[in-house]
Amino acid sequence: MIKKTCVMGILLGLCLLGVTPLLSLAQSESTPPPSSTRFDTEAATEAYLAKMPADKQAQSNAYFEGGYWLQLWDFLIGACIAILLLAGKLSARMRNLAERMTRRKPLQTIIYWTQYMIITSLITFPMTVYEGFFREHKYGLATQTFGPWLGDQGKGLLIGLIMGGILTTLIYGVIRKLPRTWWLWGAVVMMAFLVFSLLISPIFIDPLFNKYTSLTDQKIRGPILSLARANGIEANDVKVFDASRQTTRVSANVSGFLGTERIALNDNLLRRCTLPEIETVMAHEMGHYVLHHIYKMLLFFLVIVAIGFAFLRWSFNFCTRKWGEKWGIRDIGDVAGFPLMILLFSIFFSVMTPINNTLIRVQEVEADLFGLNAARQPDGEAEVALKLGEYRKMSPGPVEEFIFYDHPSGRNRILMAMRWKAENLATLPTVAVAPSTAPVR
Ligand SMILES: [Zn+2]
Repeated sequence: MIKKTCVMGILLGLCLLGVTPLLSLAQSESTPPPSSTRFDTEAATEAYLAKMPADKQAQSNAYFEGGYWLQLWDFLIGACIAILLLAGKLSARMRNLAERMTRRKPLQTIIYWTQYMIITSLITFPMTVYEGFFREHKYGLATQTFGPWLGDQGKGLLIGLIMGGILTTLIYGVIRKLPRTWWLWGAVVMMAFLVFSLLISPIFIDPLFNKYTSLTDQKIRGPILSLARANGIEANDVKVFDASRQTTRVSANVSGFLGTERIALNDNLLRRCTLPEIETVMAHEMGHYVLHHIYKMLLFFLVIVAIGFAFLRWSFNFCTRKWGEKWGIRDIGDVAGFPLMILLFSIFFSVMTPINNTLIRVQEVEADLFGLNAARQPDGEAEVALKLGEYRKMSPGPVEEFIFYDHPSGRNRILMAMRWKAENLATLPTVAVAPSTAPVR
């Protein structure tokens, strides 16, 4: 969807902070068999996978594979909207209106952005409702009725108007001031803006959608804080947020930056998981923090956006030489060309999907390994992988995983946990050679 792609860069960075992991193909294929002959890693993995009923597995596959097609449809709808705005000269008229209202360039950009955001949100609304509401309910993943869901969408639109307005104005300012090197400085501005978003999110944005409270249950709070202290994290509070307001998914995340960092778990995780499972998830999130994944991702982000902007500079000029006059676009500093920018940028990010997913997935594998070493709960990890499998296909093919997965697949996560278990049997307190068949609490 076009409004999504236009803030794609920001979202790319923000989503890195969510719960995420993946196993590289080379790793999974070249790993030698475990040194322990008492524990069959492959058989243990298969035993865990067999715990997921066939109908649940089929449902999860259908949901996740449908997501691939949605990515394509969203891209095509976005492209159609961009072409409609450009070829129908609607974008040029929106620019003219902004110019009639004020002579100040930054204000013109904000006025243009507001019109753009409202028009594209209205056109894509039916798809947004299908994707975000009906489809989620169909697969039993959503908990909201239409009214509150729409309320959240409204808040999202308002945040998009404000944050997107600031970012678009800054980027156009750089383009106008530095016509030759804007692609580089624009990427720096984009990164600085992302840092700003990360800083304010836990304080101003997240609380608009969910309630964050301190975890009071000492039986869970104590072990989590102990894990944190053992891994050099100075924390004296554990936050829980009411994700059950929107979804049935279990998750946790690290958010914030430079002192506003926070590791929070969602109430579904708290309600549906055992203590070993909660410990392994929280240790994974602590891994993101201890391994400085946010800072590393910001650097990746800077490089990717700079390449994207360089492509944009070249391709935008190419397109406007051919169609600029017909579409009423003067040059790259003209906001009337914004839909073209979004279209070209979304082409770039579509092509980059496997690379971006792999960058994130590799960090997720690191966090998984950190989590296993810190929490020492391989069976908890395997159980959580099954729960995450409710919305992420468990056993994709290697190419499929490479292209579409921003976390390792459930199968690879369980395999990793069982491999860890095989090598640590002697030091684990109680060893279940096969996964228990008892229902999960
Ligand atoms: Zn993660």
